[in-house]
Amino acid sequence: MTNIVNIPESLLPEDGRFGSGPSKIRPAQVEALERGGRTLLGTSHRQAPVKALVASIREGLSSFFRLPDGYEIALGNGGASAFWDMACASLISRKAAFGTYGSFSTKFSASAAGAPFLEEPVLFKGEPGTYRLPELTEGVDAYAWAHNETSTGVSAPVRRIPGSEEQDAIVLVDGTSAAGALPVDVSQTDAYYFSPQKAFGSDGGLWLAVLSPRAIARAEAVEHSARLEGARRWVPPFLSLTSALANARKDQTLNTPSVATLVMLENQVRWLNENGGMDWATARCAKSASILYGWAERSDYAKPFVTDSDARSHSVVTIDLDDAVSAQQVVGALRENGIVDTAGYRKLGRNQLRVGVFPSVEPADVEAFTQCVDYVVEHL
Ligand SMILES: *Cc1c(COP(=O)(O)O)cnc(C)c1O
Repeated sequence: MTNIVNIPESLLPEDGRFGSGPSKIRPAQVEALERGGRTLLGTSHRQAPVKALVASIREGLSSFFRLPDGYEIALGNGGASAFWDMACASLISRKAAFGTYGSFSTKFSASAAGAPFLEEPVLFKGEPGTYRLPELTEGVDAYAWAHNETSTGVSAPVRRIPGSEEQDAIVLVDGTSAAGALPVDVSQTDAYYFSPQKAFGSDGGLWLAVLSPRAIARAEAVEHSARLEGARRWVPPFLSLTSALANARKDQTLNTPSVATLVMLENQVRWLNENGGMDWATARCAKSASILYGWAERSDYAKPFVTDSDARSHSVVTIDLDDAVSAQQVVGALRENGIVDTAGYRKLGRNQLRVGVFPSVEPADVEAFTQCVDYVVEHL
């Protein structure tokens, strides 16, 4: 059944990109690419102009996250997925505990489970649509969970597990779809890592991490132990966090980065800071999210998927639709009208819309989005 619905021009958002990552890239970022591109694209990342770009990103993020003393910003190629393997290689000493409550939080735990030199990880599993933090466990030296589970639209608290410091355990938080959109006190973490194609509206392929002195010391110790005679552990050079950090300190990456990604990221970090930093960005996302949740709660065919209102994400909003309304058809009709990437996470398999409301998205466009969905549902 392919019903064509033409949404009236007057209802359409100015920009129809509502993806949960890749997400909307602001026109100013693309202009920065055109401008900066003339001098930066196609030039060496080991020379001053590109290094200045990386320096600006590191300084901008330090200010955005109000970096505590001794914390540092590292970066490298491969995205958050690469950071999971890097953490398995360079950060977890022997055994990690994970909160798993969706696709992304589970993937990291699977990496740890597959690492032959680590002990079987301890999993604290939560149902999709809820979160579950890992609990204090004997013998665990790293606790990990996701600030925002992008597959379900759930956000979890970011605070140290009581007793974990006495254990000398580190806290690794996946901030990929949260960083830049949700408030965070990074002093509650030892590694708060993310990719730039979500709230930072750049392209993918890069990871960034806010590292504590404790995480840095841990990586040094783990990598040292792997170099000892007879060690069973292998730290592939590409997954060495100490190498990544040594390069970051020189405003470089271990291997060649996408300069375009850096240009767009730098522009976004500057834009966020100029507008008021974390307070501004998180208030803007909260506003957009509340427009969607409020609309769904008033609607007679839609409702928020996450029942605990405190766990409802302010960056990735999931809305269940009544069985009488096919989300797939709604998403298809929206796409034909230029409103894209609003499908639920495939593997979650629900009759659901999933809407990315990162800082780049205008709250007025979110309002328009709700009217467009109403229009489509009426006319399908
Ligand atoms: C998107 C996402 C990832 C994966 O990021 P890549 O850059 O594709 O590796 C990991 N964790 C979360 C929470 C995400 O949203």
